Amino acid sequence: MSGHYQRVDDHGAPLVLDCVGCRRELVNTLTNIFGGKPMCRACRRDAERQAADDVLGMAWWNELTEQRRAHWLQLAGSCRPVDAWHCFKRAAVSQAA
Ligand SMILES: [Zn+2]
Repeated sequence: MSGHYQRVDDHGAPLVLDCVGCRRELVNTLTNIFGGKPMCRACRRDAERQAADDVLGMAWWNELTEQRRAHWLQLAGSCRPVDAWHCFKRAAVSQAA
């Protein structure tokens, strides 16, 4: 995509990777790898926040009764728990405001 040729080290490992989030070029070091993928610091922070949010959403979903699940899925207009979770968060934010 970027057209630059792949620079590699003595073992054939790429020296430069593209961040999976923003496509920025990264030096291939362990600190720039997150979940096995090249990721810059900003994208990594987002990914970590997202992962933490997924855990919260899962815990929230597991605590719900079947009726509450149906309620939030209907509000979300979806059959996916993640959509219900986002819908719940939006509702929580608008109640707090
Ligand atoms: Zn990035």
